[in-house]
Amino acid sequence: MTELERKHDRTPVPKDWAYAPAPEARDIVALRERYGHFIGGEWVEPRETYTTISPATEESLAEVGQATPEEVQAAVAAARGAFEDGWSDISPAERAKYLFRIARILQERSREFAVLESLNGGKPIKESRDVDLPLSAAHFFYYAGWADKLEYAFPNRRPRPIGVAGQIIPWNFPLLMLAWKIAPALAAGNTVVLKPAETTPLSALHFCDVLRQAELPAGVVNIVTGDGRTGAEIVKSEGVDKIAFTGSTEVGKAIQRELAGTGKKLTLELGGKAANIIFDDAALDQAVEGIINGIYFNQGHVCCAGSRLLVQESIYEPVVEKLKRRLTTLRVGDPLDKNTDVGAINSKQQLDKIHELVAAGEKEGAEIYQPPCRLPEKGYWFAPTVFTNVAQSYRIAQEEIFGPVLSILTFRTPEEAVEKANNTPYGLSAGVWTEKGSRILWMAERLRAGVVWANTYNRFDPSSPFGGYKESGFGREGGRHGLEPYLDFDGSG
Ligand code: NDP
Repeated sequence: MTELERKHDRTPVPKDWAYAPAPEARDIVALRERYGHFIGGEWVEPRETYTTISPATEESLAEVGQATPEEVQAAVAAARGAFEDGWSDISPAERAKYLFRIARILQERSREFAVLESLNGGKPIKESRDVDLPLSAAHFFYYAGWADKLEYAFPNRRPRPIGVAGQIIPWNFPLLMLAWKIAPALAAGNTVVLKPAETTPLSALHFCDVLRQAELPAGVVNIVTGDGRTGAEIVKSEGVDKIAFTGSTEVGKAIQRELAGTGKKLTLELGGKAANIIFDDAALDQAVEGIINGIYFNQGHVCCAGSRLLVQESIYEPVVEKLKRRLTTLRVGDPLDKNTDVGAINSKQQLDKIHELVAAGEKEGAEIYQPPCRLPEKGYWFAPTVFTNVAQSYRIAQEEIFGPVLSILTFRTPEEAVEKANNTPYGLSAGVWTEKGSRILWMAERLRAGVVWANTYNRFDPSSPFGGYKESGFGREGGRHGLEPYLDFDGSG
């Protein structure tokens, strides 16, 4: 109960506007004690298992399989069988029907999946509810629409499915990345073997139930769980025709080396170190919201996070002041509480990496600011952090931290902003905040980034292609472009 203060007999006003807890009910998700691999439409008992946990509490959630090479090969064989035994030949309109069904079931069961995503991944329920789930369903709806229009999407090129797609996804958007991968692959007529990340397997396993509900033919989608060894096994499997990978640049490079000369198709969506650029004519309060959304959304576990803030020198002080004030209002804590803005760090390993880079930033001479906030004792947590006094050479300005940590740099002219923004091995995304449309276009032309947001940040739409330049990878996901990596064309083998 909030303490009330009486001033000169006027209406009492609360001294402290604390939020009452608003927990989302977690019993909407029925978890099993143990999950196998989903192969050929059946649950296959795993030979080895590990325990998946909630990063917010460290409690065990379920036992899941650590796929052996034989289990991966069984999944690939099931996908090959389903491809040759009908899926590639059924009418495109029929394929679309399954995708529409999956989309609708995801919508119907969205609360259940949102709770599961927050439970296993640590992200705030308001994000999984309002972003991950609607976007996942939207991807299936969008690609359902393309399934019977491939000839129109690629006129005179005779598009054909490739065969079996091996798909390896990360832990930051487990269900959304699954949707980004599976929806275009199926729309194009392929079958799939997918591996979710070691720390977040549950929504992909739960999704198998959706596949059954949608009556998707057995073997069209197969899901095997496990750590990097399972991913490596999928990559080298001879029965796989295409690999789609989202994750770290290091693993992406290793996969590229492994596939060189094999003729397998490859798309890589890797890391980023995006610049969010604020000009002095920008609407400042709106820009501050964009900065917050750019770096603290999903605890900063976002490949396109606006982790380098470039502020025009003349507005540096008001921006930093407004930003620090706004930071004090962020609520860090229970991911299942509807008021939470910043949830748990996904794993102990990721928390250690954030600690290491933040310590390096302080050592190199940057000034750290963290708002007063009490972090839960159990689980993996990191307070929202801002670094000022950052030089371009510091590790916190160069390396992907993948956590709620912002580095602020300044610039004087648009040319300098472009030079600093492009001074990174990555090239996934960027943000520009200015009132002038001509400046937005001028900047967008020069920024070496796959996505440039103007006066907004972290906005996604299934119809819009997403992907990187340089060490951020190659190939596009989303939009008509996202179909292309899953198709063969006349003259392309
Ligand atoms: P990884 O690249 O290791 O993980 C991505 C996926 O690849 C996971 O499913 C992982 O399995 C799998 N994998 C790991 N090793 C191999 C391999 N040799 N062959 C095939 N697949 C493999 O990223 P991390 O989870 O280790 O995160 C490390 C850093 O990567 C983060 O700190 C962040 O900077 C960056 N990252 C970037 C992402 C992005 O979207 N751009 C997403 C995730 C991380 P498993 O998880 O089971 O080990």
